[in-house]
Amino acid sequence: MTSTLTPCPHLIGGEWLPATGATTPVFNPSTGDTIAQCPVGGAAEVNAAVEAAHAAFPAWRETPAVERARVFFRYRQLIEQNYDTLCATVSREHGKTLSEARGDVHRGLENIEYACGVPTLLFGDTLENLARGVDCETINQPLGVCVGITPFNFPAMVPLWMFPLALACGNTFVLKPSEKVPLTAVLLGELIEKAGLPKGVFNIVHGGREAVDTLLTHPKVRAVSFVGSTPIAKYIYETGTRHGKRVQANGGAKNYIVIMPDADIGKTVEALSTAAFGCAGERCMAGSTALTVGAAAERLLPDLVTAARAIKIGRTDQPAPAAQPDMGPVITSQHRDRVLSLVASGEQEGAKVIADGRGLKVADAPRGFYLGATIVDGVQANMTLAREEVFGPVLNVMRMDDLDAAIAQANASAFGNGAAIFTANGRAAREFKHRVKAGMVGINVGVPATMAMFPFTGWDDSFYGDLHIQGKEAVQFYTQQKVVTTRWFGGDVGDVWKK
Ligand code: NAD
Repeated sequence: MTSTLTPCPHLIGGEWLPATGATTPVFNPSTGDTIAQCPVGGAAEVNAAVEAAHAAFPAWRETPAVERARVFFRYRQLIEQNYDTLCATVSREHGKTLSEARGDVHRGLENIEYACGVPTLLFGDTLENLARGVDCETINQPLGVCVGITPFNFPAMVPLWMFPLALACGNTFVLKPSEKVPLTAVLLGELIEKAGLPKGVFNIVHGGREAVDTLLTHPKVRAVSFVGSTPIAKYIYETGTRHGKRVQANGGAKNYIVIMPDADIGKTVEALSTAAFGCAGERCMAGSTALTVGAAAERLLPDLVTAARAIKIGRTDQPAPAAQPDMGPVITSQHRDRVLSLVASGEQEGAKVIADGRGLKVADAPRGFYLGATIVDGVQANMTLAREEVFGPVLNVMRMDDLDAAIAQANASAFGNGAAIFTANGRAAREFKHRVKAGMVGINVGVPATMAMFPFTGWDDSFYGDLHIQGKEAVQFYTQQKVVTTRWFGGDVGDVWKK
C-alpha cells in the first residue's frame, strides 16, 4: 500500500531529497503497519549535507546573535501552531500516548526557549587592568559543522536538545535521526525552514551505520552530540574523538528508586507507576528497579500490583482523547521479544512475576507491539534482569535490609543516569543524595529528568564526554573560547584627551 506511506526525504542544502537507494520500514507500533520508508543514506548524502553545512557556516556565523535568536522565537511559535500535528506524528511512529507525546514536544519546546536567550548565554568575561593599561576578555565563538545522532524514544525532545542551541550559538548542523522515528524529525525540519533559517544551515540525513561512520570521520565535522544505547555511545565517543571531534555521548541506564519504610505509600505508588511504566518504560530515566528497604515492600507491593494491573493499554494512534489508553506499545516486535526474554531469564533464575503483562492482546490491533505492565519481585544482583537495561514496562523489585545496602546496590551499577529516594526522613534523603552514584537525583521525585536550563548529567556508562547536553554546559560544548588581551599605545592621534 505504497500510496499511504508518509514521505521521508533527506534535507540537504535546503532541498528535500527522496531516497535513491535502500530504505527501512517505519512502523506504527500501535497496529504493526508500515507507515513510511526511511532512506538509508550513505557517504554521498552525508558528504553533500556536511558540505552544505560547511558552506552555510561563514554567513550564519556573521549573523548577529540577536538575529539568530529571532529565528528561534519564530520557531517556537511555529511549533506551538503545529503542536497537534507534531504530537500525532510522535504517537503514530513511536507509540507514545498523546499525553506522553505532548510531554516530548513540550520538553523540546523548552529547549528552543532556552536557545532564544543566546545573546546573553554567549556573554564572555572581562577583567580591566589585568596589568597596567592591559585589559582581558573572553569571546565565545561557534565551532562550525555540528552533528546530532538521536535515538527512537524521544523523537522530538532529543533532536531539540541539540540543534536549536547549536544553531543559535552560530554553528550549522546535520541531524541523523533514528531510522525508527524519522517523521517527527522531518516535521521539525520543515518548521525550522519556515522560521527563516537560511539554506544549508540545518540538514537532515537519514540512515544507519554508514551515515554515522561518515559523519564521525568527516574532516569538516567539528562536534558530535549523540544519545542512544551504551555500546553505541561508547563507539561514537571513541571513534569521534579519535578523529579529532568534540563528542558528548549519552548512553543507556538502569535507574534505582529506593523506598524507605516511612515513605508516603499513596504518593510513592503513583510516582513509581509513572516512573516504571510511563512511555512503556522506554526512557533513559525510567525508574526500572525499586529497592524496597525493610518493611517498605509489604506496605508498597499490594497497591503497586493493583495499580499496574489497572493500567489501560491500547492504540495511541486514535485522535479522540477519550480513546487514549494509559500506555501504548513498545517500538518493534523484536524489542518486545527482547523484553520478554529478559523477564523469562529472571524467572528462570528464581525471581517471581507478581504482575504479569505478558501475552496481553489489544482486540482492535492484534498486530501491535504490546506488553502489559509487569513487576518482577525477588530480583537478585547477579541476575541478567538486574544488570541489563530492559527498556520496557518492567519493574524489578529488590528487597534491601537497610539504606546502606540500597545505596551499595545502586552504586554497583555500571550506569549512573538517575536515582531517587522516597522517604519522610530528611537525614535519609540527605545521606542518599550525598552518596548515590548518579548524575540526576530525585527526592520524592520518581523521574528527576532535568529541564533545559540544567545539564542532563549522566555518569559512568550513561555518558561519555566532558560537557553534557542542555544548560550552560551545552553552550560551552557548542562554542570555543577566545581570550583577547589588549593594550593601546599613544599613536598618530596623539594624547587627544590632553588637548
Ligand atoms: P541505539 O543506540 O540503537 O540508536 C541510537 C542512534 O544510533 C540511532 O540514530 C541509530 O541509527 C544509531 N546507531 C544504531 N546502531 C549503530 C551502529 N552500530 N553504528 C552507528 N550508529 C548506530 O538506541 P535506540 O534504541 O534508538 O534508543 C534507546 C537507547 O537510548 C536506550 O539505551 C536509552 O537508555 C538511550 N537513551 C539515553 C538517553 C540519555 O540521555 N542518556 C536519552 C534517551 C535514550
